[in-house]
Amino acid sequence: MKAPAFAYIRARSLAEVLDLLEKHGDRAKLLAGGQSLIATLNMRLSSPDLLIDISRLRDLSGIQVRGGNVRIGALTTHAEIERSPDITRHLPLLAQAAPHIAHVAIRNVGTFGGSLALADPAAEWPACCIALDARFTVASKRGTRQVKAREFFKGLFSTALRPAEVLTHVDIPIPGSDYRSAFVELARRRGDYAIVGLAALAKSTRGALSDVRLAFFGVGATPVLAKNAMAALEGKSSDAAAAAKALAKDLDPAADLYSSAATKMQLARALTGRAIAALAA
Ligand SMILES: Cc1cc2nc3c(=O)[nH]c(=O)nc-3n(C[C@H](O)[C@H](O)[C@H](O)COP(=O)(O)OP(=O)(O)OC[C@H]3O[C@@H](n4cnc5c(N)ncnc54)[C@H](O)[C@@H]3O)c2cc1C
Repeated sequence: MKAPAFAYIRARSLAEVLDLLEKHGDRAKLLAGGQSLIATLNMRLSSPDLLIDISRLRDLSGIQVRGGNVRIGALTTHAEIERSPDITRHLPLLAQAAPHIAHVAIRNVGTFGGSLALADPAAEWPACCIALDARFTVASKRGTRQVKAREFFKGLFSTALRPAEVLTHVDIPIPGSDYRSAFVELARRRGDYAIVGLAALAKSTRGALSDVRLAFFGVGATPVLAKNAMAALEGKSSDAAAAAKALAKDLDPAADLYSSAATKMQLARALTGRAIAALAA
């Protein structure tokens, strides 16, 4: 199928984008890497009157270490994150997750902000941002505001972004040197979206875990922070059995085309065991 007709503007500045969004409202769509949007246009799942191409806005791209945070511009590609020495050093969870996102050709073009704004429930970056307690900055003609990652994902492909808002960058606090991260995912084939995945982070002191964060994806309409399983691990060495049991209170996965709810739950338990072993190692 082909996309319906639309007007196209390649934006030269964020100010121009905000003006255009203010004028056209939800009849306009932002085009970042286009790796998800173009497919939805071609399948006529979306039919905007105007595409605003933001892909050349250099100010929205790049990775900077600022004080105790890493700032990632919305237009930073998956591949740039995968290859960044700053990410490997300060946010190894992102470096571990990146190779699981699609294939090299898509990672070279698809963007961090595009993935977060799309909010696919099986995507890797949203869960990582929740585990890392990231803060999103969004801009509109009315100014900027910050939204915590944990409050950003509202439902299936639905976020706290309002019409006429652009996600500009994400600030992620750098975990202390005594933190460990683990990223585990099961997919039908390498590069496919996850059946179930888990982004995990914890402070590990001689094998005892604290400040545990377990963010699951592929198990619901949004990423899920498994608070009961996290509490079950607090102060423990690696009580995977207790965490797996507590997961029943955190997750209520729905079946999809390939897996039953029970299979997803079993996979989530298995991934929890693997992640805990890595965190406590
Ligand atoms: C074959 C295939 C496999 C894939 N596998 C995976 C996978 O395993 N894991 C995964 O996470 N993703 C996967 N993807 C999706 C890929 O990661 C996309 O790059 C990403 O989801 C969207 O980023 P994009 O820059 O291409 O955004 P676009 O497609 O350009 O935009 C996506 C949506 O976000 C909006 N948007 C974009 N940028 C902003 C912004 N800064 N502010 C506000 N709204 C914005 C757009 O208007 C649009 O609605 C796959 C894609 C393909 C084609």
